[in-house]
Amino acid sequence: MTVEQKAKTLTHFINGEEVIGVSSRYSDVFNPSTGEVIAQVPLATKEEVQDAIELAKKAYPGWKNTAIGKRVEVVYRFRQLLVEHQEKLIDVICEESGKTREDAKGEILRGIESVDMAISAPQMLKGEYSVNVGGNINAYSAKSPLGVVACIAPFNFPVMVPLAITSMAVAVGNAVILKPSERVPISALYLSKLWKEAGLPNGVWTVINGDKDAVNELLENDNIQAISFVGSTPVAEYIYQTGTKHNKRVAAFGGGKNFMIVMPDANLEQTANAFLGAAYGAASQRCMAISGAIAVGADTEKKFIEILKEKIANLKVGPYTDPEVDFGPVITKQSKENIIKHIDLALEEGASLAVDGRKPEISENSNGFYLGATLLHNVKPEMTIFKEEVFGPARIVVGVETLQQAIDLINDHELGNGVTIFTNSGPAARKFQEEIEVGMVGVNVPIPIPVGYHNFGGWKRSKFGEGHMFGPDQARFFTKAKTISERWPDETEDTTTSFAFPSNDEIKPKE
Ligand code: NAD
Repeated sequence: MTVEQKAKTLTHFINGEEVIGVSSRYSDVFNPSTGEVIAQVPLATKEEVQDAIELAKKAYPGWKNTAIGKRVEVVYRFRQLLVEHQEKLIDVICEESGKTREDAKGEILRGIESVDMAISAPQMLKGEYSVNVGGNINAYSAKSPLGVVACIAPFNFPVMVPLAITSMAVAVGNAVILKPSERVPISALYLSKLWKEAGLPNGVWTVINGDKDAVNELLENDNIQAISFVGSTPVAEYIYQTGTKHNKRVAAFGGGKNFMIVMPDANLEQTANAFLGAAYGAASQRCMAISGAIAVGADTEKKFIEILKEKIANLKVGPYTDPEVDFGPVITKQSKENIIKHIDLALEEGASLAVDGRKPEISENSNGFYLGATLLHNVKPEMTIFKEEVFGPARIVVGVETLQQAIDLINDHELGNGVTIFTNSGPAARKFQEEIEVGMVGVNVPIPIPVGYHNFGGWKRSKFGEGHMFGPDQARFFTKAKTISERWPDETEDTTTSFAFPSNDEIKPKE
């Protein structure tokens, strides 16, 4: 039997049920650690997406009108199930993404932070109230859910990103349609089972599997009120432009090119350790991964490269089944080839190799999509490897003479997701965090990803539209405000017609 014949056919999750796809189009889901096809995922047709939206629309009023405390009880049960099923979820994430078990656990824990934030929905939904704004009128604002909303996720966090973009949307009363990455659909289907077990009414949570055809229907369909997208910058821009053209609220989170400034006064040993995990962890497939170091001063650059070279030689790449492994494969064969192309192009453009990870030891005995850690230096800002996000373990070191030059290089870059500085100087750190044009900023913190109760989002071409992931802004993004002015006149009040524009004049009793 071939591996293809063993592969399981996956479903969608619609109206509380696993639904077999009717489209004749399928995509292979790989185990990146072995290169085997483990499943076939259906790619939904436009009509299948439309039917799923109709069912979500039917479920919406019942969920919206469920008492907020009752909705949160379901979210709380879902959270408990995530904890109970953690080991199984780790298995699923590792198998379809190639992450190490430790890394998969970290992603689940960060995902649970978003669920915790969603449990605070009653607090987030509290409106504002003003007594006697004029004429015995009281004014208040209330937050209503939007209706049916769509969340579109990337491959690199099969659990964390779906939880981050959907949990608050569910808790504040929307019906949510998740379109996971066709490369990691099994985790999203697993989450569906947990929502069902937690007692979420049918239709409130939908997983529609598919590719750009499914996404296009979500973008164009009049019954979708908002789109929360996470993925690469070109697709994020397309989602924003198309979604807003169809009058939807859109927050589209894109890619990153995240630099670590290394100051001459930094402890280079500690900084190198921080760099390795942040730069190569998860095979560098994180939007907040450190893409490169900007070393301030020729001496810092030289020493830093030497320390990194020694440390990279001790890194272990391999399958998640080996607990000693530091990071696993990249997601697909195409992705591996694309990363190698980036390294080759950098060399053609004049960069030098400090460490060549193009042929790691393991790749000789495995069909997995492995790449070792590559480190390039003599990198200049005009090179492609400096300008573009490389979603794999090819990292760079750039040398500059001053902190100002480092800040200017980062500010001139078109992406602005994350950035960090390693220094012992308070004034340098202060200048950096005030002047840097990036959304998420670290000082001696290698991956400055905000905790679940702070807003997450990049600047420049790393985010399109308003609204953040995580944090209180999620509640704002998935609700709309209604402002109510209310008066109950009594018999003694003068209620004759007035043609003046409403003002805060006192109501006078009848003469
Ligand atoms: P991707 O853009 O290829 O895919 C993301 C989603 O969009 C998937 O569900 C995919 O099916 C869909 N899609 C792909 N091409 C499309 C098209 N032409 N039209 C409509 N839909 C399309 O991203 P990916 O490779 O899955 O994920 C990696 C990227 O995501 C990296 O660039 C990474 O930096 C970024 N990312 C960003 C964040 C963030 O918070 N800013 C978080 C995680 C990942």
